[in-house]
Amino acid sequence: MLKREFVLPGGCCPICGAKDAFQVKGKIDNIPYFGETMETLVSCSNCKFKHADVMHLEKQEPMRYEFYISSEKDLMVRVVKSSTGVIKIPELGVTVKPGSWSGGYISNIEGVIDRIEKAIEVAIEKANSIKRRRGETKLKKLEAIRGGKEKAKIIVMDPFGHSAIVDERVKKRELTKKELAGLKAEL
Ligand SMILES: [Zn+2]
Repeated sequence: MLKREFVLPGGCCPICGAKDAFQVKGKIDNIPYFGETMETLVSCSNCKFKHADVMHLEKQEPMRYEFYISSEKDLMVRVVKSSTGVIKIPELGVTVKPGSWSGGYISNIEGVIDRIEKAIEVAIEKANSIKRRRGETKLKKLEAIRGGKEKAKIIVMDPFGHSAIVDERVKKRELTKKELAGLKAEL
C-alpha cells in the first residue's frame, strides 16, 4: 500500500539553529476506508529534536468517529491520530488532547491503549494518594479492555479531518458547529 517515500533537507533547525542538521522525512500511504495519508518526521541531528505527525491528503472535513471495542480482535482496528486530533474513552474518563507538540501517529486501538497507559503511569508517579488511586483504577480498566473483558467506546475527533478510526463498522459523521468550536478552543 506504500506509495511514496521522500527525504527533504530542511535547512536551519528552528530549535537550535544548526545548519544542514535538519531534515523532513515523509511517507505517503493509501489507507483503505480512509484514503491518502502522509506521515512526516522532522528531526535535527544536532539537538536531537524530533516531531512526528500525520496528515490526511484528501477531503478534510471536521469529522467524528466512534467505535465500540467489544473483543480482543477489535484492538487491531487502525487509528490515525494527527496532532490536531482528540481521542476520548468516556468509560475511562480519558481524553487525549491535541496540541502542536503532541504529535501524530498511525497505530491501532491497542497502540492507543498502550500510550494512554504509559501517560497515566507517568502522571501518577508523583501524584498524591487520591489521584494515584484514581489512576490505578483507570489502569485496571484499561487492562480489562485490552483483554476483551470490558467493553468501551472510543471516539476520535479532528477539526481538520486528519484523524480517524479506520474500520467498516465505525460510526462517522461531521462534527457539529458546537463540537468544532470546543475543539478549536483547545488547539
Ligand atoms: Zn536542532
